[in-house]
Amino acid sequence: MKWINRVSKLFQPTNVVPKSYLPKIDVSSKSHQLMINTGIISNSSTGMFTFLPLGLKALEKLTKIIDEEMMLIGGQKIYLPALTSASLWRRTSRMVESQPELFMIMDRHGKEYLLSPTFEESITNVISSLGSLKRNKLPLKLYQISRKWRDEIKPRLGLLRSREFIMKDLYTFDSNLENATNTYNIVKSAYETILNRIGIPHLKIFADPGTIGGSISHEYHYLSNIGEDIIKLCKNCNYYEGRFKESKSYCPSCQQSLDKINSVEIGHTFLLGTKYSEPLQATFIDNNNKRQFLVMGSFGLGLSRILATAIEILSTDLEIRWPLKLAPYTVCIIPPKEGSKEESASSVAYDLYFELQNSNIDVIIDDRIKETIGKRFIEARKSGYPFVVVVGKNSLNSVPLIEVHDIYNSSQFKLELNEVLQYLKNIL
Ligand SMILES: [Zn+2]
Repeated sequence: MKWINRVSKLFQPTNVVPKSYLPKIDVSSKSHQLMINTGIISNSSTGMFTFLPLGLKALEKLTKIIDEEMMLIGGQKIYLPALTSASLWRRTSRMVESQPELFMIMDRHGKEYLLSPTFEESITNVISSLGSLKRNKLPLKLYQISRKWRDEIKPRLGLLRSREFIMKDLYTFDSNLENATNTYNIVKSAYETILNRIGIPHLKIFADPGTIGGSISHEYHYLSNIGEDIIKLCKNCNYYEGRFKESKSYCPSCQQSLDKINSVEIGHTFLLGTKYSEPLQATFIDNNNKRQFLVMGSFGLGLSRILATAIEILSTDLEIRWPLKLAPYTVCIIPPKEGSKEESASSVAYDLYFELQNSNIDVIIDDRIKETIGKRFIEARKSGYPFVVVVGKNSLNSVPLIEVHDIYNSSQFKLELNEVLQYLKNIL
């Protein structure tokens, strides 16, 4: 028998956390509380979270979007070890300034490692340890989607500032600065596509390369009150600038005053030059058979942060809202209550379930038929299913009608069975 996604079987611990166990509001946020209360994630220890089945499903959808766009620009996926030898970070002189935020580990021989917050040293060492690259391998674009660690002085706001987080990091290798700049621009446009597919408006800001280093850098931001970054925005002409620009209070193009708006950084790109390839000796063989340092780029995108910020921006205080493309299940079907007049229409609900599943729509059925439709409907709204399909009273009409609720747009329709699939397909 084919497996059916049933709410009754779902591992979704909801409303089980006593109020006193929830973090104080100044270190918490709407998205944090909603994700815990609706069983998306659970707290493991300070700033560390378990992705429960619904959370992981959303994360995997985001991963798929990123993988598809990375593939289209020739990105090749790899996994680097979580631990990086501390000696590599000493060779690039990053150890001293970063040490307070690093989780350090020592092996039985006294050799030091760090749980990597970023992998420039690690990937550059992989390249240099394999000898010089051949010219025809360039540009080389290697990326991973993996856990990263940072021992935050003040972990807060759930996945927005956690100590363990999930990031896509891409590293590019080119023969010279001109080619590396070209690669940088190609990745930037892939970022635009990824963020457009997620569907939440973002800002791209020219930024300070900071401790990662290099010559050009951009940040990607979502606007949200919860954010710890400040963006200055002109509401008149949409001019904006990041915190690194010299402090201006008037818009340079239309002279209106600039508003300060909070934002969350969700991505950061760097044209690194040879900052890492020189100390770690990562080279290629040029046309004159000489070894030259590779010119690198580094591109981060915070998956766990994108999920949390999206929920923060889209949700109401009580009901979670996902970007449509990332919702763990797109449709929840509610069959009639046990013992009700319309119980005989229950098979309609299951027919519809299989029809949607066969069309590759992520669907789950709320089979807790001892509960009223009303109660299950309220819970479906809280859980954030974008579409809730109710097989209720109207399913007994001479022409049976199904209620389709478009939760995110607050609209509802009564459709005939064969129209439901078409309606959902058109929207999705
Ligand atoms: Zn302006």
